[in-house]
Amino acid sequence: MINRDDLLAWIRKLAQAYAENRDYLTDLDAAIGDADHGINMNRGFSAVAAALENEPPADSSSLLKTVAMTLIKTVGGASGPLYGTFFLRAAAACQGRENLAAADVIACFEAGLAGVVQRGKAELNDKTMVDALNPAVAAMRTRAEAGAGLAEILAAAAAAAESGMQHTIGLQARKGRASYLAERSIGHQDPGATSSFLLVQAASDILGQSES
Ligand code: ADP
Ligand code: MG
Repeated sequence: MINRDDLLAWIRKLAQAYAENRDYLTDLDAAIGDADHGINMNRGFSAVAAALENEPPADSSSLLKTVAMTLIKTVGGASGPLYGTFFLRAAAACQGRENLAAADVIACFEAGLAGVVQRGKAELNDKTMVDALNPAVAAMRTRAEAGAGLAEILAAAAAAAESGMQHTIGLQARKGRASYLAERSIGHQDPGATSSFLLVQAASDILGQSES
């Protein structure tokens, strides 16, 4: 079972990952956007880490909601409201549940993805974060149906997110700033798909180990 402390460890690990990958994400965005994605993610998750340090919310749902509200407040650009929506919907999906079973964790990711799609209107292969998140959620469902435990479910999700991220290299962007480049966006990995892969990978690294 996953509890609030596990989610806290995941978000802290993610803040660390975005700090370490700040320049990498910004360089990816320099190629097809405005060179701020790493700066945005690092700014947002530094603020998240600070907010969680000051007064860690008492339960899992409130913790995810604090993540959401902090991202919406501190991240400009397309990615702030999109990741804000992801965590807000995830928070709603686990409201009232203190310990999250594998099915609850999947429900959170599913709800988060649905929120991103509803807000950003991106479809698969539009070269956005959806190209990492959608295969991750699909892999979670497939592994869960096969009877796998959370560690295996999240490892499969991280692998699927990574493939999805790599697949964006060959795609032409149809949403967001990169779409202004039309066919010149082809040949570059999408920054948002990369930050989404890091999100799922951190979940696998931390939540995948928490299973008892
Ligand atoms: P901005 O594009 O405003 O500078 P960021 O650089 O922080 O914002 O984020 C860019 C990323 O946001 C893109 O790489 C893409 O993955 C994602 N993105 C942009 N628009 C959308 C959308 N409509 N739906 C889903 N993801 C999107
Ligand atoms: Mg940008």
